[in-house]
This record gives sequence, structure tokens and C-alpha cells, in this order.
Amino acid sequence: MAGFSSSHTWESLRPRKDEQDWADVVWFKGAVPKHAFNMWLSHLNRLPTRDRLAGWGITQVSDCCICSNEAESRDHLLLNCDFAAVIWRVVFSRLSPSLLTCRSWAEMLSWTRRCSRKAPSILRKLAAHTTIFHIWKQRNNAYHNSQSIPPLTIFKSIDREIRNTITSRSHLKRFERLMSLWIR
Ligand SMILES: [Zn+2]
Repeated sequence: MAGFSSSHTWESLRPRKDEQDWADVVWFKGAVPKHAFNMWLSHLNRLPTRDRLAGWGITQVSDCCICSNEAESRDHLLLNCDFAAVIWRVVFSRLSPSLLTCRSWAEMLSWTRRCSRKAPSILRKLAAHTTIFHIWKQRNNAYHNSQSIPPLTIFKSIDREIRNTITSRSHLKRFERLMSLWIR
């Protein structure tokens, strides 16, 4: 068989590490189920963003519901849109002050996996889940109700929800120190 290479076939069949490894970011003990589910759909790029709706012929307009400046893809809406970027900047100012933006989904995933004394991975995952959930929720609010809410107001809801999640899980050992790290 000309051109056949078993190692090449193995490489193409084997899931790449980054694809294999997503489960720990989506499902972890203490995750809020609705946030984890939304994260799962986001990771698989299954949210009905406008670029996908336009691809299915459901809408002609693919512009971002929030800024109208670019096509509404997952990465634009949840990471790169000015609206999302403002929210992420505040999240990073709490957990990774040297980081300003997250340009790609892969970059965001690898950020959640990093672990430092002041920002353990579990807190990063919790923050990413809650942030993505609230950005998507506001996108739907803009889409269905034409209601615009400033990003820092959305951050307040994210902050409140993270505090509530940590408080309600304080019996779990890995959540013990998280409140002081999040609100410091
Ligand atoms: Zn946008």
C-alpha cells in the first residue's frame, strides 16, 4: 500500500492531548451542574451562536449580538468581544494579574489548568465556568430582549455567584481556602 504509514494512521486516529484532556475542565467535583453543562456545550462549540445559525440558514445576520462588530463565533463572543474582554480582565485581575486577555479557547483552557498558590486550578475553573455562563446568559438577553447590561454589572453577578458557590461547598476540602483567594 503506497503511502501507508501505521504511525501516521495512529497519529490521525488518536485524539490529540488537548482534545482528550477537556473533561477535567468541564466536569469536576463541586462544579455547578448548569455551569458545567454550558461549559460542555461551549467547549464542543455547540452553542447556537449567530455564525452557526447563519451556517444553518436560520438567520442572515451573523454579527455579534452584543457589539455588532464581528461575526458572532464562540471565541469572539465568549473571549474576544470587548464586552467579554472587560469581564475577563476583572477576573484575571483577581487571579492572574499579569494576564490581560485570553485570545483563544485553547489558551483559556490551559489557563484554567495552571495552578499557583494564589490561584489554584479549581478556582480558575470555577471562575471560567461562571464567567462563560453569565456572558452567554447576557448574550441571550441581548438577543431575545434587546437588553444591554454593562460588563461590570455582569461581573458583579459573576462575583456573587462564585461567592455563593464557594460558601455552599465549604464542606469540601478543596473549596476551603477559595473564598479568601477570590475576594482578596
Ligand atoms: Zn462582540
